[in-house]
Amino acid sequence: MARDAAPQMAIGVGADGRLPLPWLGDALARSAALAGAHALLVHGPAGAGHLEFALLLAQAVLCEAGGDEAAGRPCGRCSSCHLVATRVHPDLLIVLPDALRVQLGWVDDEDGRLTKADAKPSRDLRVEQVRQAIGWSQRTSGRGRGKVLLLHPADAMNAAAANALLKTLEEPPGSMRLLLTSADPERLLPTVRSRCQRLRLGLPAADQALDWLQAQGVDEAPALLAVAGGSPLEAQACAREGLTAAWLAALPRRVAAGDASPLVGRALPRAIELLLKLAHDAQVQAAGGAPRFFSGEQMPGAADPAALREWQRALLRAARHDEHPWNAGLLVESLVGQAAAVWPHAPGRATSRAGASLHSGR
Ligand SMILES: [Zn+2]
Repeated sequence: MARDAAPQMAIGVGADGRLPLPWLGDALARSAALAGAHALLVHGPAGAGHLEFALLLAQAVLCEAGGDEAAGRPCGRCSSCHLVATRVHPDLLIVLPDALRVQLGWVDDEDGRLTKADAKPSRDLRVEQVRQAIGWSQRTSGRGRGKVLLLHPADAMNAAAANALLKTLEEPPGSMRLLLTSADPERLLPTVRSRCQRLRLGLPAADQALDWLQAQGVDEAPALLAVAGGSPLEAQACAREGLTAAWLAALPRRVAAGDASPLVGRALPRAIELLLKLAHDAQVQAAGGAPRFFSGEQMPGAADPAALREWQRALLRAARHDEHPWNAGLLVESLVGQAAAVWPHAPGRATSRAGASLHSGR
């Protein structure tokens, strides 16, 4: 299927004064009260725009024209704001896992090794990256307005990396500020959490999210926003991967029927995530609640509670080891196969591979 390349991420306030994501303004205004914090942890639900927000905050800290200080906004027009927006500000260091840099297209010539076909860029923030960042933090500010060290996502630091950062986190050199992000702060070392002031980032209200998605040219925004758990950025990513409302509507029953074909060939993390969301909705429905990611009419009916728990455990195990693409297709088939026990009475269950491929041909 055709997949569009990810659009370039908008960084910071532009010269037109617009925010990169319209829902970040509220948290930005709240950040003004935390201007004295030398270490800030930006947290909130996944897909809220943590990196976009942290970059916006960095731009505000480094802005040389002052911007709108009450609203926490950078001006978007001074040379410093421009340098942040083009990621070449000498006093801003952005530390990301290699895998994310590749995904964003933020790799330069010396990183050629990362983009080779057989490369497996790390999803961790490595201890060497943290040590380099500490070395950088000890150098003098290039433009004299302090420095910003951004670590995203901070929970990608392993224990060695986090421990290496502690001293700098406690006493940043000079007027440096540290910005850490996390969609799951419980995964951070308590010693890291306790050294940061916190700023919560929220997801936008549904109407704001839908407006934004429509402005980005995303069709079928409501279904995509639902499966994305309310995150417009995730919904946009789903649209880019070719997910449609009709495909999503059919998915629960096809999975319940043991038909893995809609998911085979998709990125493994996405396939597992969709199955986990389906399992979540089945569990909520069993407890008398309304499904969150799929609509009630799309759900395959009552699930067997014991089989559902077993399936969820298998899905979570798979989610922890989703970096093994050589058996991705088989893994998805096996996980969907287990769904048959969850919905033993689902209609249309394929009884063989031939049945499964016939079913997918419709
Ligand atoms: Zn500025």
